[in-house]
Amino acid sequence: LPVLAVIGRPNVGKSTLVNRILGHREAVVEDTPGVTRDRVFYEANWAGRDFMLVDTGGWEDKVEGIAYRVAEQAELAIGLADAVMFVVDANVGITHTDEQLVKVLRRSQKPVLLVANKVDDQRGELEAAALWNLGLGEPHPVSALHGRGSGDVLDRILEILPEEGQTRAKPSGPRRVALIGRPNVGKSSLLNKLARENRVVVDSTAGTTRDPVDEVIELDGREWTFVDTAGIRRRIRQSEGADFFASIRTQAALDRAEVAVVLLEATEPISTQDLKIIDMVLESGRALVLAFNKWDLLDEERRAQLEWEIEKDLSHVRWAPRVNISALTGRHTDKLVPALDLALESWDTRIPTARLNAFLGALVAAHPHPLRGGKQPRILFATQARTRPPRFVIFASGFLEHGYRRFIERRLREDFSFDGSPVEISVRVRE
Ligand code: GDP
Repeated sequence: LPVLAVIGRPNVGKSTLVNRILGHREAVVEDTPGVTRDRVFYEANWAGRDFMLVDTGGWEDKVEGIAYRVAEQAELAIGLADAVMFVVDANVGITHTDEQLVKVLRRSQKPVLLVANKVDDQRGELEAAALWNLGLGEPHPVSALHGRGSGDVLDRILEILPEEGQTRAKPSGPRRVALIGRPNVGKSSLLNKLARENRVVVDSTAGTTRDPVDEVIELDGREWTFVDTAGIRRRIRQSEGADFFASIRTQAALDRAEVAVVLLEATEPISTQDLKIIDMVLESGRALVLAFNKWDLLDEERRAQLEWEIEKDLSHVRWAPRVNISALTGRHTDKLVPALDLALESWDTRIPTARLNAFLGALVAAHPHPLRGGKQPRILFATQARTRPPRFVIFASGFLEHGYRRFIERRLREDFSFDGSPVEISVRVRE
């Protein structure tokens, strides 16, 4: 989906506006100041079109009044968006921070919609007109609180957002890898190791555009793009809000990648943060490789403990290829490429419809769905709607139980190779 970032300095009413756009389906605004929200991405719809909203309101309590940090955070959000909604408080007028943000917006060259918020009545529109001085074109007056003007703003948003489909990068060129994991797992060490021992491609490959934050490294005779390596190299300051920064960076990297290498620390217990990062990969629909780092530090006891933890905590991603590496010594780093290849191949897999239906027909005959209210939900037809990741649509004569869907997914995975890729199954019921 196309992505719209909502940026602006603290207290201009970004979250209220996001609420307005979402139609109050989500409670975004917290009453308690200082409460940070986890969610940053929201799915929105207007006039039949879906798009994603990135709300940057969640971190503002921690950075209020510090212009450069607001700008830095906005830059992250803008980087991963297709278009930007820049919110200014019409009652306050243009501040220094707003001017800083305008600079960031200019640099990004993304389409911008300037919104003058808190215009609750006609009088406010005069104040809104003063925002022409920002040099971002026409200011669109709105009252996020009362809804005044919000329909117009939504119409404008649709005009500046690209249609779905145009946002997906072309599959040509080197495959794109996101190296992610919590701080200190060894991301930058691994990147350095790979860059030192392999050819770093500096000349741009014909027909591909390179983002300056990426790095292209030749592994096994092929070029691979490691996305957002700048985010890895520029270490996150260990301050309040660092987790939030990290999760935005992870999301940004995932957005641009095809496959994620989640780095985990073999020497330490699998943490909730690790699981959250894996969840982000699953939600993004990217292919997944698990890499356990710092293997050089492992003793027998920890190794056994780790296997047990993996069994316990990572059973839901049992299908992900796993490599045990040491970024320090280089142990098994050559196993990364085969794992990436496997995951990407699964991610690209397309099962012909006839084969899919033959498979499901046999499966359902041998293992029918349990009776529901005396009726037998039957699978009528199935097709693979898309790849990257594979998504299957099953047409059924009745609702299919969750457990049965899981069973189908498991058998699909067993019969066709989907190692390293999420598999989505949706069911359409035709009564
Ligand atoms: P990042 O925050 O994920 O980029 O982590 P770094 O690459 O900065 O690594 C954090 C610390 O772990 C550094 O002190 C590294 O030297 C150390 N480290 C990284 N990989 C390994 C490894 O494979 N073995 C050992 N023993 N130390 C490692």
